Amino acid sequence: MAREYDLIIIGAGMVGALTAVLTAKKGLTVALVDKHSGQYPLSVPPAYDARVSAISTLSKTLLEEAGAWQRIDPNRLAPYKNMVVWDGLGAGEIDFDAMTQHRHDLGQLVENAVLCDALMKTVQDTRGIDLYLNDTVAEQRYVSDSIEVTLASDRQLQGALLIAADGAQSKTREQSGFDTVEWDYGHHAIVTTVQIDQPHQDTAWQAFGEEGILAFLPLPSIADKHYVSIVWSVAPREAEALLALDETQFCQRLTYAMNRRFTALAITVPRLAIPLRQRHAKQYVQENIALVGDAAHTIHPLAGQGANLGFADVSALVPIIVKAHQRGESLGALKTLRRYQRARMLDNIAMAASMEAFKRAFTTQHPLVVQLRNTGMSLCNASAYMKRQLVAHAAGIHSY
Ligand SMILES: Cc1cc2nc3c(=O)[nH]c(=O)nc-3n(C[C@H](O)[C@H](O)[C@H](O)COP(=O)(O)OP(=O)(O)OC[C@H]3O[C@@H](n4cnc5c(N)ncnc54)[C@H](O)[C@@H]3O)c2cc1C
Repeated sequence: MAREYDLIIIGAGMVGALTAVLTAKKGLTVALVDKHSGQYPLSVPPAYDARVSAISTLSKTLLEEAGAWQRIDPNRLAPYKNMVVWDGLGAGEIDFDAMTQHRHDLGQLVENAVLCDALMKTVQDTRGIDLYLNDTVAEQRYVSDSIEVTLASDRQLQGALLIAADGAQSKTREQSGFDTVEWDYGHHAIVTTVQIDQPHQDTAWQAFGEEGILAFLPLPSIADKHYVSIVWSVAPREAEALLALDETQFCQRLTYAMNRRFTALAITVPRLAIPLRQRHAKQYVQENIALVGDAAHTIHPLAGQGANLGFADVSALVPIIVKAHQRGESLGALKTLRRYQRARMLDNIAMAASMEAFKRAFTTQHPLVVQLRNTGMSLCNASAYMKRQLVAHAAGIHSY
């Protein structure tokens, strides 16, 4: 006999776990399945996790609503109050600062492991969620107006709605026959934690230039030592060459790529190279199934928006299914799920298109494009209105 739930969520990463908590808090019964153990052992600073995320205001509000944000040790959070972006091939530079935008900060940097740990603990403390860890879906089939899944452990679950939150390589998306549009960005992102010679000034620094796209993202300082997380997007061959450098040589290249604004002193965790791929599902929903987060879309990390888009999916989907539940309507009805797709798809496509345009514009050395982009950056920097719009969009909130 299959165990019955309102929702079966595959994937207990950031997006799946948040969906589970927010829906269970509204009285829905949830089965949350993940192939992972659900354990996120936390490293000891300064060995900050190499994977970090810049969390927008909207995302933080949702995580607070779930009760997960409050569980994060403030010593593992780094609010950034400024952002400086410049073109290494010209004089173009834009700076944003929270104060002139009447904000406390522009976002918060948090290690992925720290955030996932907080979310998993919140899941475990939330009534209405059954966790199926170290498990995957072996088979899924429609049974009248619901979905039945058989897990690899042979357990059977039945739910009105199956939510695929199983990330970029989503098996659920594939098994359900969703089509995607996808291509390689021709970039690998090298990520690691770096000790730098001076305070980062609570600023996210980003350089576009010959050396690729390089972000220095602030992490909490310890005593008089200062740390940043780097995301360095370069062609795959260049990534291989950078990984082959020893620590001293790598730090020298980093210092050069940052236009010597900082000197990189040491790396505190092993470097990782992550291949970057743009991917977008042509539909996010079908009868009884919805895709959220990276299962629905992945973008270039240059603007640090992937997880924020996933959280925005959750913020659109949850009220729609909660309302359907309260009205006694079917949670899996296509008519209901299409409301979610309408609410999110254009926004996600617009963000993917801007990332592609940015990546193309900033990885060419064609003199005309270089001149145009530098002029564009200077014009944007001179316009308080444009900067306010950009910040509001990145924060996931409306401008004023
Ligand atoms: C270099 C880099 C930097 C980034 N920086 C930022 C940033 O600053 N800000 C930001 O907003 N975003 C950022 N992102 C994007 C962000 O990391 C992702 O968008 C986010 O992690 C997606 O979360 P998710 O829960 O949808 O998927 P995932 O985090 O991939 O979680 C998927 C979950 O599903 C589970 N799973 C997978 N397959 C199965 C299966 N078959 N069965 C069961 N379970 C399964 C996995 O174990 C995992 O727990 C960055 C991405 C990269 C590559």
